[in-house]
Amino acid sequence: MKEGRYHRQWLLDSWDQDKVGSARVFIAGVGALGSVAALNLAMMGVGELILADYDTIEVSNLSRQLLFREDDIGRNKAEVAREFLLEVNPDVSVKAFPSNITEVPKSEYEGCNLIIDGLDTFEARRWLNSLAVDIRKPLIHGGIYGWWGNIQVVVPYVTPCLECHPLTPRRELEQPCTPKGEKRKKNGGENRGEVTPAVATVSCIIGGLQAQEAVKIILGLKPFDSYLFYDGLSGVFTSVKLERNPKCVVCGEEYATESIEFEINPEENIRELKERIKKALGLSDPVNVTYAARIISDDEKVGDAVREGNYLFIYDKTKTKPFKVKIRLS
Ligand SMILES: [Zn+2]
Repeated sequence: MKEGRYHRQWLLDSWDQDKVGSARVFIAGVGALGSVAALNLAMMGVGELILADYDTIEVSNLSRQLLFREDDIGRNKAEVAREFLLEVNPDVSVKAFPSNITEVPKSEYEGCNLIIDGLDTFEARRWLNSLAVDIRKPLIHGGIYGWWGNIQVVVPYVTPCLECHPLTPRRELEQPCTPKGEKRKKNGGENRGEVTPAVATVSCIIGGLQAQEAVKIILGLKPFDSYLFYDGLSGVFTSVKLERNPKCVVCGEEYATESIEFEINPEENIRELKERIKKALGLSDPVNVTYAARIISDDEKVGDAVREGNYLFIYDKTKTKPFKVKIRLS
């Protein structure tokens, strides 16, 4: 009986199905983790799910991506996931974007209560983290590698973001989760990197935890605020309390209120400057440097292109906002 669908959830003191039913959740990537999170949230009756994944289903996905069947091979993940979820629970509405997460309109992210990170590359995660902080939406990060998994809830400007501690073990886990030997596709010319071991049981645990933190946030309960590491071989969960980094280039107060002062040698060219900035700020790929709204080409000499005391804007594809760099000629 339809009215009885959520009966067992209602038995929880803290449950409010009206809140759950009017929530919207953005799920970035519906692979191993995103499939599990989406299925759980749909079953719980979360009002609207927005799915984004440009990838198509391959046979090796079927060992752990719960929403896909043999007949779906070759079809887009977000679209197939949408059909599956609507069959599981016709009460929910599901929107599918068969595209890269960077191509989904920003309004779709802004209209959500929170964002779930079901991505499989470090670079895409950094972009999503940067966006979540920018629009102040909680981000529920999950990562898996073989028998290991991890989860972290980012509440912008309250808990550390993924960029606050880029050297935590998390980085080890932020590799693509497709098994060895599987052919990777190029995503808009971007190489998605090495494939790593993955097993369905670990993605169910981590994706399930992501869905649980999501529904807790929707219900107004306090989300888990540490970094949680799961070792499936020993069956141990370890939580590590992280502090926010005031110098974080995404959520740090120092960065948010001021530009970065950077000494610039007038004799060097833009290419050399980019290399230095890349190292200093831990950027993966500064795409452009602009000065007075003009993109400066790599071969231009810095001294010819800019003036002391003015600002350069450095665009990095892992960030949604450029870095503002104050020019101090050496
Ligand atoms: Zn941060």
